[in-house]
Amino acid sequence: MSELVELLNRYAHEYYTADNPSVSDSEYDQLYRELAELEKKYPTDILPDSPTHRVGGKILEGFEKYQHQYPLFSLQDAFSREELVAFDQRVRKEFPQISYLCELKIDGLSISLVYENGVLTAGATRGDGSVGENITENLKRVKDIPLTLKEPLNLTVRGECYMPKASFDAVNQLRQEKGEPEFANPRNAAAGTLRQLDTAVVAKRNLATFLYQEASPTQESSQEAVLQKLSSYGFSVNDSYVLAASINEVWDFIERIAQERNSLPYEIDGIVIKVNDLAVQEELGFTVKAPKWAIAYKFPAEEKEAQLLSVDWTVGRTGVVTPTANLTPVQLAGTTVSRATLHNVDYIAEKDIRQGDTVIVYKAGDIIPAVLRVVEDKRVSEEPLQIPTACPSCDSPLLHFEDEVALRCINPLCPAQIKEGLIHFASRDAMNITGLGPAVVEKLFQQDLVRDVAGIYRLTAENLLQLENFKEKSANKLYTAIQASKANSAERLLFGLGIRHVGSKASRILLETFHDMMTLSQASQEEIAAIDSLGTVIAQSLHTYFEQEGSQILLAELKEAGVNLDYLGEKVAADAALSGMTVVLTGKLQRLTRTQAKEKLQKLGANVSGSVSKKTDLVVAGADAGSKLTKAQELGIDIRGEDWLDRL
Ligand code: NAD
Repeated sequence: MSELVELLNRYAHEYYTADNPSVSDSEYDQLYRELAELEKKYPTDILPDSPTHRVGGKILEGFEKYQHQYPLFSLQDAFSREELVAFDQRVRKEFPQISYLCELKIDGLSISLVYENGVLTAGATRGDGSVGENITENLKRVKDIPLTLKEPLNLTVRGECYMPKASFDAVNQLRQEKGEPEFANPRNAAAGTLRQLDTAVVAKRNLATFLYQEASPTQESSQEAVLQKLSSYGFSVNDSYVLAASINEVWDFIERIAQERNSLPYEIDGIVIKVNDLAVQEELGFTVKAPKWAIAYKFPAEEKEAQLLSVDWTVGRTGVVTPTANLTPVQLAGTTVSRATLHNVDYIAEKDIRQGDTVIVYKAGDIIPAVLRVVEDKRVSEEPLQIPTACPSCDSPLLHFEDEVALRCINPLCPAQIKEGLIHFASRDAMNITGLGPAVVEKLFQQDLVRDVAGIYRLTAENLLQLENFKEKSANKLYTAIQASKANSAERLLFGLGIRHVGSKASRILLETFHDMMTLSQASQEEIAAIDSLGTVIAQSLHTYFEQEGSQILLAELKEAGVNLDYLGEKVAADAALSGMTVVLTGKLQRLTRTQAKEKLQKLGANVSGSVSKKTDLVVAGADAGSKLTKAQELGIDIRGEDWLDRL
């Protein structure tokens, strides 16, 4: 269970916060279900940070938090007709007569729009359902969102913001031309765009919306009437919905849309089935994170045939050599696919994939295309695929260990591995050196300027100026980013070193325990394994790493270069006492200065703001507090004192 929780939390972070998923939605959903089943079996062992407790993602830096007045929810999902029938039976047990409104499940991201007196005053993402990001300025650039309504209404509406397929293709084409990484799918492109700090970029990208819910109290009595009302207010409403009297009719609609799906100008990932009668919805109510009156049917992954043209073998950071198939281009889930992963050598053997084979490719959910199997009837040649025996980067012999599915290059000086290691070191969750991506690493490597991570800190601004396409400004910017990374708390460094099995969460736990890299590097395997949430595998891997003479030299070099090796405890746990709350300080405190109090609050996860408004969750007041306290009292906001803060 803890393995699944760690994995799912990592995927959720990549998906929601970094807009850069590494696994398909189906794979995520499968793991999620596995966890949910285990939790059902062992309810006393449910972990506090299990993703089954929460809706959606985390808040990015750069945007203010937005406290939703009405929470946003997730949806329970179904992957088969049987699951829909079971849902229908649950509902009909209490309400035999109901009908369902079936809507397209638009593959974008949830947004909430707030209108006061008919004027758009706030727009936010879902976030964790109760606190999202305030992206009002960006949403104002989405052309089909009305800035004012015809009538002076007070209204909170919900819907999906998405990127049409045509805009997605155009954006990716441009990114490709500029050598920027392409978005995995329109959903990620939309999410990435709405989290742009530059509103001009948003305006250029042609996002659009479909609204489907009135979150503030509504006068309407059915979901269908809500959709019609929203449309009359001037919102974009998707009109491909139907009212279904039975689950059979629901299924007919699902089958029809599955046929038409590819010709829609936007991506959908399923059908949302909602009890149409709002009074019944209210009676049915909610589970912890989803309404009991709705369910999302998710389409199975799409599959296509393509011909295998050739295979590329690439070496990763850990020396694992991965095969990628080059294919005749096919349209899959909205994008053109001409490359797909073949996973590893054992997979190729197991599926018996040969030269020129016709294969089935799929994009489970929508992310990484993969080869599923061979269409044997269409085999044109019996020739097996050429499996490399030497590393494509350094030419040293490749090994296939008995307990591994992959080929591995074990040469520690292999250039491909070193480059991948440097890219990982600079990546966002590691040292977060903006501007030090694959292209720059390649250049540094070619010019022999950097051979290991310590080398990054020996670079001078002059060195960087020698790089192709680098001007004074770009060189200085990168140089500054490198210098700034020296001050990072050491868990980033530890993660950045890319030691096997040591992920970012384990890195934080290790440094919380051992406080600095030097102490950690001297710790015994037993001491590390004694940490509750880690295990012997991590302990062994760390021990092996630090035992090498080279690691000690590397640490000494990093220290010499001025890189911080201490844990600074900079990160606040997501479940900190005041996580997500907006707190205002006012008046004179007895024991703490204003700065100390602010730091304390921030460590507890609070967002400390200077003025009291409806968005304030809590006011901490000292002696002689003035107008802020009065305003907080007027608004009925919780007020606490210094003693309370001390106790916390
Ligand atoms: P969800 O996307 O399965 O469904 C809920 C959402 O559907 C709503 O919040 C709303 O935004 C949207 N929606 C679209 N059209 C709608 C309509 N007509 N009516 C109502 N809602 C509509 O659930 P979720 O909680 O947003 O996300 C969980 C899903 O995200 C997972 O099942 C998985 O597929 C995906 N995910 C993938 C990864 C990954 O690494 N690939 C990681 C985390 C989550």
